[in-house]
Amino acid sequence: MNSKQWMEAADHVLMHTYGRYPIVLKRGEGVYLYDLEGKKYLDFGAGIAVFALGYNNPEYNEALKAQVDELLHTSNYFYNVPATKACEKITQMTGLDRVFLTNSGTEAVEGAIKLARKVYYNKHGKADGEIIAMNHSFHGRSMGALSVTGTPKYREPFGTLEGIVFADYNNYEDVAAKVTGKTCAIIMETVQGEGGLHPASHEFLQKVRALCDQKGILLILDEIQCGMGRTGTMMAYEQYAIKPDVVTLAKALGCGVPVGAFAAKEEFALALVPGDHGSTYGGNPFAAEAICKVFELFGKQQVLENVRNVSVYLEKKLDVLAEKYACIKERRGRGLMQGLEFDRPVKGIIGKAMEAGLITFSAGENIIRFVPPLVIGKEHVDEMIGILEPVIAEER
Ligand SMILES: *Cc1c(COP(=O)(O)O)cnc(C)c1O
Repeated sequence: MNSKQWMEAADHVLMHTYGRYPIVLKRGEGVYLYDLEGKKYLDFGAGIAVFALGYNNPEYNEALKAQVDELLHTSNYFYNVPATKACEKITQMTGLDRVFLTNSGTEAVEGAIKLARKVYYNKHGKADGEIIAMNHSFHGRSMGALSVTGTPKYREPFGTLEGIVFADYNNYEDVAAKVTGKTCAIIMETVQGEGGLHPASHEFLQKVRALCDQKGILLILDEIQCGMGRTGTMMAYEQYAIKPDVVTLAKALGCGVPVGAFAAKEEFALALVPGDHGSTYGGNPFAAEAICKVFELFGKQQVLENVRNVSVYLEKKLDVLAEKYACIKERRGRGLMQGLEFDRPVKGIIGKAMEAGLITFSAGENIIRFVPPLVIGKEHVDEMIGILEPVIAEER
């Protein structure tokens, strides 16, 4: 069957939860993807900020194959070596003390919310803790994660959790005004992804940290998208000289194997006791081995150095576009997490660029998001601009 036939088949059996692009992807190599007919695409989406190491990385693939042959799954009623190693790596990276491994970002957020509520419950004997979340945030689609996601139309039909209050991102006065005696946590992304590539300002994040310390509120940073080196440091919050009480991770943590994690400071982590939380798959040896290998390859391939280098070049090139074309309002973001905001919906531009062999995603209606594999080179930036610019030039 060809791509067209597979797309028709898919439209019969898949739930219609995504507006999919008309491409059936088959394989990947480095920073390129290929569809069923062998057409090549330069990938500036990385499966939504997932595939940091590039596709078909031989060492990564070999490690996973070996783990499949050794032991794919046990249960969390036993210990396994890869999970322990993975959690050691995560504590070193985050500066936090204990880790719970999950299968996705959403589940990491879910766990972080439960942890914050349990800490509050232990203190107050009641489960009525409130959480302050940010407008335009994105934390996932399960009932808990959705409840703290700042897009009303995502939440409205589903009757989300009570006790969630939304404040404006980068507006300290608004956040502070929403604190009550019941506030148990403040949750935010260090750099908002879906919400439009907005980094937290230094002043905002540092003031929120101080507020949390003063009031005994847990600061949960969601680094599912902006973490794992994407902004030039392993954790984006390293650039703010602060540390959260809880952090959530996923996406590039497994580089394609579905994994996530939430990590917390000792005093809070201990609030969760046997029976409070669990997962059948979470931290299974296969998924944990993927995490271990990702950390190893980040070091070997000097991923952070590359991000710092190439992101300066990418910013410069995007700034040139933003200056040259009136339909572009602004370039913003941090590291290899960049966005171009247009004065119009970008769906058409993204579609045309895809036809021309470039994959990007949108963030909201008017923003093209650039979240390439972290191993891209300057030559790939040039290639991307070479495809995108003619499409933008037609817009005028
Ligand atoms: C993608 C994302 C999530 C959800 O992760 P899933 O793995 O899709 O469940 C949560 N928070 C942020 C910031 C994300 O970018």
